[in-house]
Amino acid sequence: MNRRFFLVAAAAAAAMSLSAGIDAQELRPEAFDLLDLDWPGLEQVKALHSEGRDSAAAVALLDYYRGRDIRTPEIKDIKKVKINKKQQKWADEALEHTFYVHDGYQPSFNYGEDIDWQYWPVKDNELRWQLHRHKWFTPMGYAYRVSGDEKYAREWAHQYMDWIRKNPLVSIDQKEYEMVSSGEVKGAAENVRFAWRPLEVSHRLQDQCFQFQLFVDSPYFTPEFLTEFLVNYRRHADHIMHNYSEQGNHLLFEAQRMIYAGSFFPEFREAAEWRQSGVDILNREIKVQVYDDGGQFELDPHYHLATIDIFLKALSMADLNGFRHDFPQSYIDTVEKMIVFYANICFPDYSNPLFSDAKMTGKSTMINSYKRYSQIFPDNQFFKYLATEGKEGALPDYLSKGFLNSGFFVFRNGWGMDALQMVVKAGPKGEWHCQPDNGTFEMWYNGRSLFQDSGSYVYAGDAEVMEWRNWFRATAHHNTLTLNNENLQTTESKTLLWQPEGDVQILVTENPSYKNLKHRRSVFFVDGKYFVIVDEAVGSVSGNNNVNLHFQMPRGNVPNSREDMTFYTEFEDGSNFMFQCFGPDNMTMKKEPGWISTAYNKKVQRMNVSFNVKKLDSPSVRYITVIYPKEKAGKEPALSAKFLNKEFSEDGLKIQVKVGKEKKRVLEYAL
Ligand code: MG
Repeated sequence: MNRRFFLVAAAAAAAMSLSAGIDAQELRPEAFDLLDLDWPGLEQVKALHSEGRDSAAAVALLDYYRGRDIRTPEIKDIKKVKINKKQQKWADEALEHTFYVHDGYQPSFNYGEDIDWQYWPVKDNELRWQLHRHKWFTPMGYAYRVSGDEKYAREWAHQYMDWIRKNPLVSIDQKEYEMVSSGEVKGAAENVRFAWRPLEVSHRLQDQCFQFQLFVDSPYFTPEFLTEFLVNYRRHADHIMHNYSEQGNHLLFEAQRMIYAGSFFPEFREAAEWRQSGVDILNREIKVQVYDDGGQFELDPHYHLATIDIFLKALSMADLNGFRHDFPQSYIDTVEKMIVFYANICFPDYSNPLFSDAKMTGKSTMINSYKRYSQIFPDNQFFKYLATEGKEGALPDYLSKGFLNSGFFVFRNGWGMDALQMVVKAGPKGEWHCQPDNGTFEMWYNGRSLFQDSGSYVYAGDAEVMEWRNWFRATAHHNTLTLNNENLQTTESKTLLWQPEGDVQILVTENPSYKNLKHRRSVFFVDGKYFVIVDEAVGSVSGNNNVNLHFQMPRGNVPNSREDMTFYTEFEDGSNFMFQCFGPDNMTMKKEPGWISTAYNKKVQRMNVSFNVKKLDSPSVRYITVIYPKEKAGKEPALSAKFLNKEFSEDGLKIQVKVGKEKKRVLEYAL
């Protein structure tokens, strides 16, 4: 008896006892109405259904699904499925209802013997939302395929049905939700907002393709269960069709996953419509959400990367199913530009700046990504270089590079680990994940990131969660200038000068910042060796209003001197810096606790420094900061700097800088 025949026979025999059990699986005859029964291969299903023999039709339908050959880019060969240690752990814990919901909340919480899908142990919205992504389901499928142990399939089918039963899609509108004040209606209405948020729905929509591939041969995947699955799946796709997010990365995720739904289940009557809606949205949004320079409009390295993957996943699905022609060449070119953008703003160890809501993406993840990118763009030598860590391919023929639409500027003296690199963020008003941080920067020197951004830590939730969110988002916790430590009122930087070549490379960027105070930042990259940053706060704000210039120090002890406003590191590994801030006579220095978060809900303490000046009646407050990277630890060389133009000028700048025994250096520009 061959395996498939055995499984079908076993499923038919077991159907009654399995589906009549704890999970209350029923044959859902409406499933047949959702399908195009004229689809090739469904002849028998159609005949049986039209004779009113739905039980037999469901058996025939399951037989069809077990025999058809439609794959996903993620699981191209069901026989080659593997599982890693983490996934095995998630699968095993899930058997006990300890669910892997969010990396930021480990160890995972237990949701009870009788699963409580409304359990919310920490009032962070992400924890409640992401429960409904069922991230442990696909790992259970891997565990099932690798071990052949039916306990994974049985439990998956049980949890799948339990979720359907306890998370009905009750219809609510916004007003109704707000007006509901107590009782069970609130519970159900509130729950819908988590369980049926389109982003979560789309996550399930995609992952259930994988789960279908992994579990369909199990005797626990009964004909009745199949009809439940199809009805539930169609409800998901239909919900997105009518509730696409308005914009941003959510909309892109939803569109890409509708392409998966339409491609993987072409038998649904509406499948072509689902697929086309996804294709149309991606083709439209790639023009809306991606600037000409390749930057995504949330101005967040993490979501930039996620967006690249969305566009490429859709392309891979199209390639597998023969509809690549639905995506024009300009779509493919844009994705290539997005990858070039990302590769430029990242550091030589493949790490990324933590601007906006970014988290740190690891080197092995990125090398795998570049390998994938190289397959899709075989002619791109840069991607090949990054995929092979320099063994093949080639670096670009430039060093410093500006992305003027997005407002990302990269100064660098090389591409290797020993390079000196600074990435400045000073762009237009960004979308949701963007933080009000215009003018901020990160620096890399000889193997270490310095002046790292604080990151994001958490997104949204109760008052305590929001307090942390607002701390990490605050302008004052970046490397830029504020008025009274308040958040920027306007985030709309203009690039006044970008000169990426020569001994002295220059960026001049200006942000309106506050009602009566604008911020002009001029960055000089001198001889490829050090940076001079000139900050000019200009406007009619006066009196006791304070102008503050902020810098986020590395973790660990950073010695400093209040007398000469100097900070210097004492690391041993050849990556150090000292910097000195030259400001007006009434400037004071303040040291406060700071934080850095490289992953969700993880944070480490460090120092947040500000240089503060009362504005009084002066037309402007001006600072010169010299940042001198060096291999050796300690407070040297001696630095000095002063303005040569006595007042702020709209038309240019002239300063003098001296570093150690080197000659005095005049740095200037005219606009
Ligand atoms: Mg930030």
